[in-house]
This record gives sequence, C-alpha cells and structure tokens, in this order.
Amino acid sequence: MLNTLRSIIQDVNSARDLDQALSIIVQRIREAMGVDVCSIYLTDEKQQQHVLMATQGLKPESVGKVRLAFNTGLISLVAARAEPLNLADAQIHPHYHHSDKIGMEQFHAFLGVPIIHHRKVLGVLVVRQTRVERFDEEHENFLITMAAQLAGAMAHAKTSGETDILLKQHDPKQQDARPLKGLPGAPGVAIGTAVHIYPSTDLDAIPDRKVGNIQAEIDAFHHALSSVKQDLTMLSNRLREVLPSEERRLFDAYLLMLDSHSLRGATATRIMEGNWAAGALRATIEEQVKVFLEMDDAYLRERAEDLRELARRILHYLLRDETYKREFPEHTVLVGEEITAPMLGDVPTERLRGIVAARGSRTSHVAILARALGVPAVMGAEDLPVHRIDGSVIIADGYNGNVYISPPLRVITEFERLAKEEAALAEDLLRLADVPSQTQDGNTVPLYANTGLLADINPSLSTGADGIGLYRTEFPFMIRQRFPGEEEQMRVYRQVLHAFAPKPVVLRTLDIGGDKALPYFPIKEDNPFLGWRGIRITLDHPEIFIVQVRAMLRASAGVDNLYILLPMISRVSELDDSLTLIRRAHQELNEEGNMLNLPKIGVMIEVPSAVYLAENLARRVDFLSIGTNDLTQYLLAVDRNNARVAELYDSLHPAVLLAVNHTIRSGHAANKPVSVCGEMAADPVAAALLVGMGIDSLSMSTASLNRVKWVIRNLTMERARGYVEAVLQMEDAQTVRDYMNGQMESMGLGGLVRAGR
Ligand code: PEP
Ligand code: MG
Repeated sequence: MLNTLRSIIQDVNSARDLDQALSIIVQRIREAMGVDVCSIYLTDEKQQQHVLMATQGLKPESVGKVRLAFNTGLISLVAARAEPLNLADAQIHPHYHHSDKIGMEQFHAFLGVPIIHHRKVLGVLVVRQTRVERFDEEHENFLITMAAQLAGAMAHAKTSGETDILLKQHDPKQQDARPLKGLPGAPGVAIGTAVHIYPSTDLDAIPDRKVGNIQAEIDAFHHALSSVKQDLTMLSNRLREVLPSEERRLFDAYLLMLDSHSLRGATATRIMEGNWAAGALRATIEEQVKVFLEMDDAYLRERAEDLRELARRILHYLLRDETYKREFPEHTVLVGEEITAPMLGDVPTERLRGIVAARGSRTSHVAILARALGVPAVMGAEDLPVHRIDGSVIIADGYNGNVYISPPLRVITEFERLAKEEAALAEDLLRLADVPSQTQDGNTVPLYANTGLLADINPSLSTGADGIGLYRTEFPFMIRQRFPGEEEQMRVYRQVLHAFAPKPVVLRTLDIGGDKALPYFPIKEDNPFLGWRGIRITLDHPEIFIVQVRAMLRASAGVDNLYILLPMISRVSELDDSLTLIRRAHQELNEEGNMLNLPKIGVMIEVPSAVYLAENLARRVDFLSIGTNDLTQYLLAVDRNNARVAELYDSLHPAVLLAVNHTIRSGHAANKPVSVCGEMAADPVAAALLVGMGIDSLSMSTASLNRVKWVIRNLTMERARGYVEAVLQMEDAQTVRDYMNGQMESMGLGGLVRAGR
C-alpha cells in the first residue's frame, strides 16, 4: 500500500493543475482499492455547497453539476463532523440523499473521509461499492492517508486561487458575473488575448503551454541538452588545472543527470503529452526536486539545487532558441506575476491592449507607464492564475480593477459597448484641447504632461498639454542594456525639448532605486524605498549625474525651454551638492565653447523631511514640484506597490493634504511657484482641492489631462478655496472623498469623477 501511495503522490505532483491532479487521484485510488467509485467533492464556502469535482465510476457529466447544500446528504455529514464515515449500506442511513443526476442507485457501501488542512475542511474524498459491506480497516487507513496528502496540495491551490477558479469554472451561475478582483492601474477597458510574461531565467515562473508541433519541441529540447553538455565538458576541462579531481566529479554528476532517463525521458514524455519543452522541463524538475528533498541523506538533498541549476542552463538555451521568439497576438493583454517596464518593451506598441499584474498597485511604475501609453491596466490581482491563462480571452477593466477570464459572450459584448462609450467621451474631451485651463473667474492653472517615453510626445501635444511637467528620464535608461552615453541621452532629450518648444519641459535627473531597477545596475536591499534611491545614487556617482546634466544642457541649445528637477531630496546639503554639480557641468560646457543658459532648477518635495524644509529649499531653486506618489507612501507608511495595503494608500488623507498645503505656502513664501506632478494631480477631486490651495500648475498622464481641465473650467477660486477650508477640518480620507464627490455631483460633474477613478 505504501508503494502505491508514493507512486500516486508522485503522479499527482506532476499534474499540470489542480483539475488534472484530482482526476489522477480518483482514477488511481479506484484502481488501487479495487472499488467501483471514487469521487472528490470540494467545499465551496461562498455557495455553501459541496461540489463534485472529479469522479471515476459516476457519470462524468455530473462533475461540477452535483452541488450538495451544506446540510444535505452523507457528504455534508462527513464534512460537518470532520471525521470518516464507513457504511455497509449508505441507502438505509437517515442522511442518505438520492441524487438521480449521478447514477448512484446501485451503490451501497460508502466510505467518506474529510480532506482537512489546519482544522479546516476543504472537501471530501469518497469511495463506493455496489455490494453491501463495510470497508476494512486497511482501506479506511489508506483513504485517510490519501486525504491528508491531498489536503496539503489543496490548501496550496486554495491560497493561490486555483481552487476558486476551478469552482468558478464549473459553476454556470458564477461564470459571467464574478470577476477576479485587482486594483485600478490605468483607466480604460482592454479586451484581448492573455499573454503570460515572466522573467525568463526564473524556472518556477515558466508556465505550461500547449503546442502543436511536438517534434519541434523534442528537437529543441535535445538541442538544448547537447548545448549544456558541451558547456559543462568545456568548463570541466578548463578547470582541470585548478580544481582537485574530487571537486570536478560534480561535473560528471551533472553530465550523468543530463543523460538520465528521469530527466531526458520524463521531459520528453511530457512534451509528447502536449506541453512545450520549457513547461515540460519545469514539471520534471519540480517532481525530481521533491524526491531529492524527501531523502534522508543530507548530501542527496543538496543535489536538488544542482538539478535546478542544470535546469536553468537548459532553459537558457531553450528560451534562446528561435522557436520561442514570442508571437504577440493583435490584441495582446500582458499578464504576469510582476510586469516590468522592459517587459512592456517586448510587445509592439500597436498590439499592446492591456496589462494585468498579480502584484503592484496604481502608483507602481509600470502602472504609470501604462497610463502614459494610454493602456488600461489592472494591478494587484493577487488571485490571478498566471500559469493557466495564457491564450485565454481576457478583459481588463482598468477603471474598477476587475479581470474577467474567458467570459461569456454577453460580458464581452457589454465591455465592447463600454469601450466604445469611453472612446466617445475621450473624443468629446479632446474638444477641450485648445481651450485654456482656466477657472470661471479667470485664474489659469497650466496643465502639463508626465511622460518618459518618446512615443508619448505626440499624444501629449494633441491633448493640449501646456508642456512637460515631469519627464522621467529613468525610462530610457530602463529599456537599454547599459547606461546610455551623453550623446545618446542628448538625442532623446533634444527630441522632447524641441517637440514642445517654446513650452517648458521639466527633465528629472535619474531616479532609480526603489522599484525602478536597471537590469545592468542591480541594487539589493531589504528596504529599497528607504535605501539608495534617486539623488542619493547620483550624488554617489557624479560621473553618471554630470553626463546626464551635460546631455540635458546640450539638448537645450537653441530652444531654452529646459527645467531640471531633482528627485528624492531629503536634506539641504543634497540640494547644494546637486547645484554645485549642475553649475560645474554648465561651466565646463561653456568653456568647451557652447553658449548655454543655466536652466531653471527645481526640487521634488516627495519626502516628509523636505516638506518641513520646503521654504529653505525653495530659496535655493526656481520652483518646487510635489511628488505626491512618494510623499503619500512616506507620510502614511504605506508601500505604494503593495496591493495588500493599497486600501490605506490615499492622497486625500488629511495628513497628505496638510503637507501639500504647507509646501505650497512655503514655496510662495519664498516667491517660487509650486506644482504637483504625482498622480494626485490626475484625480479630478484632488485637482479641485489643489487649485483651492493655490497650486501654480499640475502635471499628470496625458489620459487624465482633459478630465482635470473640465473640472477646473467649472470651478471658481472662491468655491475651490471653500472646499479646502472644509476638508482641512476633516479627519479621514473617506470623509474628504465623500464630501468632494458630493460637491462634484452638485456641479454636474459626477459622471466624470466616477469614470476617472
Ligand atoms: C512622485 O513620487 O510623486 C513622482 C512623481 O515620482 P515617481 O512616481 O516617479 O516616483
Ligand atoms: Mg517619486
């Protein structure tokens, strides 16, 4: 029995997903126990039902359809009591419930055991026989052991959302109406094909994928194997002189593993079953690593890591192979655990329709990038079954943060209608492109665009932006394989400056660190947002800073619309040091024969300490720009990328409003203009408050520009000041939002506010 158990578990572990694992279990248990029926019911807590999810012996079509209410039948009794029930004849038990859907009439003997994890019943495993006879003790123990094993796997599936998805897939009532919840990342609705994207070096992230050309996959796999073999042999030879022969035996072990049937054969079998080579390899390695890890011998346990190392090497070749150059469908919706800026760069812009990420939130940089590109995005969709949705039809509702996977046609039609309406509204708002951003009593609040992409220049121009209020220079750095040189940077900056001249363009110096990593400049820290970030890095690397400033200054030759903005300033000395470097760069350039004006220089107020130093900082520069994304995160101690605390992240929090108000006053006390370039500026409700506080300009992603303009054009300064007076008395963000939404509704702008959020 023990061997049977082991072999069943091994098969289950190699299953592609929960659905397949359940089918394997019922089939193998039925064979092993020689019973007529084996079934698994999963507990659906939301519906208060036990749902038949896999069976051998009952009608296959009853899977997903037989749903037993919590107080009905023997299955419920097993679950409610959380103990096994062994009956010679189920049909005479008082709780027996006859369901004619499954063809159960002929069965009498019944053995049901609960599947329990951490005292919680996740489902019931049942076997039945036609004859009237209790199951013996050995059978009972076997089933209990099986259920205990199953519990671990199911608990994992439950936390990763797989159980819910499975239940949902089998529930006709739920299929349409219940989307997966995430957070709004970028507004808009995307309908398209899910394309799973993942870091290619991460073995665990490799998904399963069905393939048509099995032979091509087998060939690619064998080709990768021989390439790795060649590498290892070469490496071993090269190290002959320096490594003791004992150590070099490791290479022999690697070579043996490469040729072993358990790696080569098992992967090939999985490919024959229809999985692509990389997915088949991942599954094989997962299975074998488990076997190694279960061994008593510590030496053998460590071989698990060797195996993973080998797999990474094979993977490297597999994914490099031309066969795996991704084809992106016309309407690509990128889905992934974590999506980064360089990943967006892989997709041709005209094919990228939407983004759905399991991690991150509205202020993650990929969400900001998505807004700049006008691509709808849902972030923090934690339950997203990333490994299983490649190729599915998917809807990303970026307004509400909802994701629909393989929705029925009527849901698709409904969203297509919404998308059309949205396009019409955007067109409508475009009419505002040529009118000034002015309150009804004539106060002008220029609206600038945030960007970091050359591709975004034309949309920014056509939506009537008064200039660029924040050009995030790290984006051009992110999509390269090395630091761009002075010439290269100069060309990029010149395009932006020239496109907008004579309108102002604010170029921010490099703000890497935090969640903005450069692939070629890795920084490993426990607390990256409190670590080496923004100006801290560039002051430590004056060679990077000076090159960038020189590129900016040279790019401004002849147009003179350059403003330089310094990120993450938290102390006065950082500003002084930066100013010294900028002046040095300027002087050097002029000594080299250029005749360049010193540009206007500004400081970002995005760290709480800078709020309190705002007046001192403002005296040293030409303008202040409040970065509300970071300011909110640092003031409220809420990670801007953490979906779990996203509810707590709100720029309408009174502490943020007070800090912003204080900064505006401090800037004005030093006679310097103050702008907001964080996402707060794009929230129509917040924009109304900022106008009331006397903000001099706002900068936001192009997509939000005309919504905000519409609000401003409906305001008077007096009314806006009144809002500020009222909200500064309030104690929490929700009260502020409710109050402001009410004010917007009464101005007839409710629809706009609702759609914009
Ligand atoms: C901010 O922090 O508000 C900001 C505009 O900068 P970033 O989002 O690039 O950190
Ligand atoms: Mg910032």
